[in-house]
Amino acid sequence: QHMHMLAERSGYNYEAVQLNKFAHLQVLTKKNFKRPADLIGDTPLVELTTFKLPAGVRLFAKLEMYNLGGSIKDRLGQNIIEQALFRGDIKTGEVVEATAGNTGIGLALACQAHGLKLRVYVPQKFSVEKQDIMRALGAELVHTATADGMLGARAAAKSYADATGAFYTNQFETLDNPASYDKLAREITDAVGTVDMIVAGAGSGGTFTGLAERLKPTGTRTVIVEPVGSILNGGASGSHRTEGIGVEVWPEFLEHNLIDAVETISDDAAFAAVKQLAVQEGLLVGSSSGASLTAALNQAQNVKGNVVVIFPDASDRYLSQHIYE
Ligand code: PMP
Repeated sequence: QHMHMLAERSGYNYEAVQLNKFAHLQVLTKKNFKRPADLIGDTPLVELTTFKLPAGVRLFAKLEMYNLGGSIKDRLGQNIIEQALFRGDIKTGEVVEATAGNTGIGLALACQAHGLKLRVYVPQKFSVEKQDIMRALGAELVHTATADGMLGARAAAKSYADATGAFYTNQFETLDNPASYDKLAREITDAVGTVDMIVAGAGSGGTFTGLAERLKPTGTRTVIVEPVGSILNGGASGSHRTEGIGVEVWPEFLEHNLIDAVETISDDAAFAAVKQLAVQEGLLVGSSSGASLTAALNQAQNVKGNVVVIFPDASDRYLSQHIYE
């Protein structure tokens, strides 16, 4: 009876909560939207029909800008904080992370919901809109030098955690990162049935790993997307304008055998695709989505059936970077 009441109040389905007493931390079936946090996940999947595709291929995009904080990383923020609370890992009430911005927004939402403080280390070059949103949600921002890259921000976050006992969420290494995308994979298969090819960009590599771990065993071809200047294809580390993707060191949780193809996309191609998506499909997406669309079109001749590409966020948080010019 008590569980039923709890379930009713939280908007979650009674059967799901009854599975075990910690079910609310893992598998949740949403009955309806009642609280802001319920607006994380269950994003739309739309078909793109204006691009030239080989016969027998359908192209679908998962629109992650429809999460509460406007990106795919809300899923990660929610999962990492809930798992850390469940394990009792948050000792001082403060959480710290290194992020280009979307992770910080996702974490800020989760910290706000649980009454925790958040401190984020952000390399200076990243979008000011994302930084303003993190601050609006109560996060404390610390800039690190653009030249030191994400590795510099990671080192700064770790030394702060070591010095103060704050909980370092460590998105680049925790297995809670890929696990945040279990439900994303389920949402996609629920929507299209068979996924013949999945295309996802890699920043931390969590989205790709989570999706590939679940979809590859069902026969899905997996394509990981990076900008020129990222190291997955054996290229040298360097700067790029495409934001949110790009890898400086190989992520430990990313197993080579999960990857069928690496697509390395130039900034020019990514930004051209962003503009095409606006005028052809009416979709306003960030540059990592543009890179992923380009990769999906490059790879489309290798499959028949359903191709699903992940669009992690929207263009409005990059307007100050003249994304449409
Ligand atoms: N696109 C954007 C806009 C992002 O912010 C991120 C997260 N850094 C990604 C793609 C890549 O996601 P992941 O960290 O899961 O590889």
